Amino acid sequence: MKIQLIAILFLVFTGILSAQSDKNTSIYQQIEKQTDIIYNSLVNIRRDLHMNPEISKQEKRTSKVVAEYLRNLGLEVKTNVGGNGVVGILEGGKKGRKIAWRADMDAIKTDDPDVVSFKSKNEGVRHICGHDVHTTIALGIANVLSQQKENLEGTVYFIFQPAEETFTGAKDMIEDGLFEIIKPDEVYGLHIGPEASGMINVKANELFAYQKTLAIKFKPNVNKKELENFLNTLLKGFVRNIEQNGSPWDIINKITDPTIGLTSKETIFKDYFILQGARLRTEKGVTFYNASFLETDLKKVNNIPLEIKKQILSSTFKDSFISIDYSKDYSGTPINDPELTKIATQTISSFYNKEIFMPLYGQVPYFGEDFIFYQQKVPGVFFFLGGSNVEKGISSMPHTANFAVDETTIKYGVQSFASLLFERANKNASK
Ligand SMILES: [Zn+2]
Repeated sequence: MKIQLIAILFLVFTGILSAQSDKNTSIYQQIEKQTDIIYNSLVNIRRDLHMNPEISKQEKRTSKVVAEYLRNLGLEVKTNVGGNGVVGILEGGKKGRKIAWRADMDAIKTDDPDVVSFKSKNEGVRHICGHDVHTTIALGIANVLSQQKENLEGTVYFIFQPAEETFTGAKDMIEDGLFEIIKPDEVYGLHIGPEASGMINVKANELFAYQKTLAIKFKPNVNKKELENFLNTLLKGFVRNIEQNGSPWDIINKITDPTIGLTSKETIFKDYFILQGARLRTEKGVTFYNASFLETDLKKVNNIPLEIKKQILSSTFKDSFISIDYSKDYSGTPINDPELTKIATQTISSFYNKEIFMPLYGQVPYFGEDFIFYQQKVPGVFFFLGGSNVEKGISSMPHTANFAVDETTIKYGVQSFASLLFERANKNASK
């Protein structure tokens, strides 16, 4: 690879090419080769998982496949962590840092027909969010890193999580003592995204918009029609920067657009408020108003209830007002550690092709991820790995009827992230 060669020559000229980085360079070349060798077997695993999808909290077969594979590699394996969760522990030849990699395993209920030849055998259930690919990539990383066991100075943990789609699996694993079993310094993970196969997209801080639902309560002695009009107008006042005339998919289809999408510096997804829906209802003598929205800025998220309360208290509805809160969240955004995001980008692009990285300038709307629960415990980074291939007619936009994945992305995922985990574990290891 040209870029890699230039980088090496530069280091030789400046005389800082240490024996260690020389050794690491050859290890990354080994990882690349080892990934090529196991690639076909990984495709078979992925297809097997795809043909046997299981919805959230029912990932019995998938977790069995995962645990068996990890045991065969010689990893220490814990099963039934937070339900069907599996943890694999790979100890390196020497002591070092501890790095975790997370993959999710669950599929989704859908009646849309499968678009691939290796069709789902479970009627009404399909992997249309790519978790079969996530699981496969994590197994591939475990495989190549276990082949590097002697060179690995540290520990790599593999978290195979159930029930991501219900936003409960990460929490369940943590509540079941995940962080007593493993003590990672850093945590990483990925999701298949709509960009081209092998393309890695990442962004420091929030990756998605915050999704919130406001719950406002009033006494029943209120003119409901007038109240609803008042609150609807109030909420619409927060809307900014993204046209909302069509459906959510009209908006989401723009995220890969090179001029206004997430990878453009001029992106429309940088700073926005999207109102998703609002409803007034009366139950047991209390009038409820619920409004759900997407907001990119945490400060604004925190300020919205205060602002709305202020406006209600200076309106004709002030005497009917009871309370305003956010209801329980079923969605969240990964918050990527800025320093680790920078290091990860530099690390992967220094050993592989720099063009595989494309920074994101905006926050993805309508996506949620419970990966944030791990990041609340330890710093980490969550990536998008592209899976589309326009020439092959493959579109990997999650949760769409025609969702499919160009399987070459499994290879890119394994080699890039196995190298990253190796580098992070070996970083500053005692020599
Ligand atoms: Zn998903």
